[in-house]
Amino acid sequence: MEQMSVTQFAGELKMPAAVLLEQLNKAGVEKSGADDLLSEQDKSRLLEYLRRSHGDTEPKGKITLTRKQTTEIRATDSTGRARTVQVEVRKKRTFVKRDELIADLQGETEEVAPVEAVAAVPVAELPPEPEHVPEPVVEVVESAPEPEPQPEPEPAPPVEPAPAAAAEVPAAEAGEAPAAAPAAPVSITALLSDEELATRERETRRQRELLERQAADIRARQEREAASRAAAEARKAEEEARVRAEAQKNEAAAAKPAAKGPSGTLHRPAKTEEKGSKDVKRGAGRTDTRSDADSARRRGGLKTRGEVGGGGGGWKGAKGGGRHGGRHQQDDRSSFQAPTEPVVREVHVPETITVADLAHKMSVKATEVIKALMKMGTMVTINQVLDQDTAMIIVEEMGHKALAAKLDDPDAFLEENAEHKDAEFKPRAPVVTVMGHVDHGKTSLLDYIRRAKVAAGEHGGITQHIGAYHVETARGMITFLDTPGHEAFTAMRARGAKATDIVILVCAADDGVMPQTREAIHHAQAANVPIVVAITKIDKPEANADRVKQELVAENVIPEEYGGEVMFVPVSAKSGQGIDELLEAVLLQAEVLELTAPDDTPAKGLIIEARLDKGRGPVASLLVQSGTLHKGDVLLVGATFGRIRAMLDENGKPIDEAGPSIPVEILGLSDVPGAGDEAIVLADEKKAREIALFRQGKFRDVKLAKQQAAKLENMLEQMAEGEVKSLPLIVKADVQGSQEALVHALNKLSTDEVRVNVIHGAVGAISESDVNLAQASGAVILGFNTRADAGARKLAESFGVDIRYYNIIYDAVDEVKAALSGMLAPEKREEVIGLVEIRQVFNISKVGAVAGCYVLEGLVKRNSSARLLRNNVVTWSGELDSLKRFKDDVKEVKSGYECGLQLKNFNDIQEGDQLEVFEVREVARTL
Ligand code: GDP
Repeated sequence: MEQMSVTQFAGELKMPAAVLLEQLNKAGVEKSGADDLLSEQDKSRLLEYLRRSHGDTEPKGKITLTRKQTTEIRATDSTGRARTVQVEVRKKRTFVKRDELIADLQGETEEVAPVEAVAAVPVAELPPEPEHVPEPVVEVVESAPEPEPQPEPEPAPPVEPAPAAAAEVPAAEAGEAPAAAPAAPVSITALLSDEELATRERETRRQRELLERQAADIRARQEREAASRAAAEARKAEEEARVRAEAQKNEAAAAKPAAKGPSGTLHRPAKTEEKGSKDVKRGAGRTDTRSDADSARRRGGLKTRGEVGGGGGGWKGAKGGGRHGGRHQQDDRSSFQAPTEPVVREVHVPETITVADLAHKMSVKATEVIKALMKMGTMVTINQVLDQDTAMIIVEEMGHKALAAKLDDPDAFLEENAEHKDAEFKPRAPVVTVMGHVDHGKTSLLDYIRRAKVAAGEHGGITQHIGAYHVETARGMITFLDTPGHEAFTAMRARGAKATDIVILVCAADDGVMPQTREAIHHAQAANVPIVVAITKIDKPEANADRVKQELVAENVIPEEYGGEVMFVPVSAKSGQGIDELLEAVLLQAEVLELTAPDDTPAKGLIIEARLDKGRGPVASLLVQSGTLHKGDVLLVGATFGRIRAMLDENGKPIDEAGPSIPVEILGLSDVPGAGDEAIVLADEKKAREIALFRQGKFRDVKLAKQQAAKLENMLEQMAEGEVKSLPLIVKADVQGSQEALVHALNKLSTDEVRVNVIHGAVGAISESDVNLAQASGAVILGFNTRADAGARKLAESFGVDIRYYNIIYDAVDEVKAALSGMLAPEKREEVIGLVEIRQVFNISKVGAVAGCYVLEGLVKRNSSARLLRNNVVTWSGELDSLKRFKDDVKEVKSGYECGLQLKNFNDIQEGDQLEVFEVREVARTL
């Protein structure tokens, strides 16, 4: 190496040249100036000097070793929490040459004494040399109370123990070991006298013994706990085994006829005993109910999987709750146990529900529901109303069980109340409607009965018209709806209400069967209501009851004396002749019907008529159908509601309650209801208001939509599955001849599968009554050379009743025929569309067999079905999986082209096979 000057060297060392010169001089290198050159020798001398001078401060002849050990003690504290205590043991051992030490001591130098700092645990590691002065350094680190072992504990900084750590050491020790806490390993470099050494040694021994005792205590406690745990586990396994053995015994007893049980069953108890604890941990659902209940009890009321019915899908946080069963059992002492099983709720979802309400029903936060909806791609707010379908999907998505609830359905309310189901059904009075041709004496008959049977008892009472009245006879009570005629009857039916039990068909003895008589018969028959015939005006000289009977037989109303079921009673509203017999006949018919209704339940009824009274507000006549209506009841009527302020009977007398089949007039509704509206008593006015408001809104539309009248085109969809399909028709024609011809032609279209049912055929314009009948019976109206009147047109429009006009009979028949064809189940027909030859087969791993083909005939379509023919024998039938031309997926390949294809779930394709490609077509059948 080149020689360099002092200045250069100083520059290299980054120090002033003067200082370097001084050091050089001290080292014995004589250099006078900064420019003097330095030799290698000079540098090494300087180095030697510097080493010497720095080494002055170091103790000579001494080696210090430091060793550290970390151990862990796991224990359960008084509160039952598992704690992990880390004990860090630091040893410091300093070796000093003995002779030097003695020399030093004699010379009273300040050289270091032999020192050893040692912690006490584990004791066995302590070196027994007397001259060693152990210095315990106990570092106690408390781990988090989790039972899981901590990751490799981070050694605490190897300095003095923290005061907190000292606090963790049991109090006795803390008090008795004054040396422990303050003593830092660093401080032990002080020189100690013999006496002090001895004292220290004594102290150390005492501490060591103390810690030893503690360690022994901890070990003993751990052993005890382990023992008790093992005992508990054994007990539980025993119990499980016993229960299972019992269950099996029962099973075996039940299955005794089968002489030999399967060997597996016989061995099972022993097996389960072996792995009893394992089974418990799994919370196995196959244990019988008793063992389920037992384990549930042992787990402090935790639900077992069996109880929740395996609906574990929805609770994402609690995976495998049953697995933790064993551990929970250990921790029975602790008061809190997190739910480990999903709670599956049955959520009743009404037709509409807000997000907030839905969340409440599932006991989750609304945000959870919103989140779930977001996942499904719907952004909603908390107050947004969801429809039933969406809400039910969300409920299922969140792991609960969704049930469609019709809370606004009055029947649901009745069903909810169990006592209604148990209610005793008692016989009730029949409700009768009088029908017949105009001027045949309907009003006269009703008036006569009323006068004779009702007003008779009322001295000076003002009889008022409330749409119905009831009469008491010796044999029982009858309620008459005093809006005669089939219009009212069918109008009510068209609203879906069935008020009438029996129809009194009025037919004048001097006139016979008239068009409206026929209409009335058809209406009654369409409603399936039994008829009692009253032949009126029997007092007239030209009366001919037999002629009337014969004419009615032609209308399919057959008197008892002719072998039919209909009672005929000749009456006179003038003389009162036969009225009692008529009432008796009605009661007889009622007996056959066995009409019953409960009378101690909240009332249900039907609005007969309603109006707005200037002074009294909405007034409605109501026929109680079941239960008992009380003054003050909260009533829900269609889309209105109210508390009954006053209740009057048909004589205008205030009454407090009304039982089944009693008509009353009620005051107090919020609005005028419609005739035929259903009324129901609810316990809760708020609920009634809610439902009424709801019905005013959406529900009405829903109901209307559901009640969509029949259309000739969609008759098929409206037919109930599985029944004999029938097409109800109402035929109106200009003249009797064409009406009969049309009805005859239509009836001839009936087959075994589909029946044409002309429920009413008449001459004349299409009336409101016809539209009502069509609505009530789901019929289509055919008008032949006739039209609907204005009222009927309007009504048909609002109901959506289908009216069709024709002027050629064959057109009408053809259309009905077409409609009936639509109603026949469509025929499935197969049509072969092509033939493909397989020319080469490529077996590609993971993909399967791909066939290289040539279309011989027709074409092959991607979504068509195919049959694999091998030597003209069908070996497989199914669908195509893919169809390609070169590398592209194609929809179809025509004949004369090559293609590649795969068959769905079928790989056994061979060269030379043929594919018969076909399509299944649904063909509407014609008659
Ligand atoms: P509605 O149109 O069916 O209600 O018939 P009405 O009750 O208005 O009767 C029509 C006419 O027949 C009236 O003039 C009655 O007086 C008459 N009438 C009704 N019933 C009888 C009866 O039993 N005998 C006689 N002689 N006349 C009757």
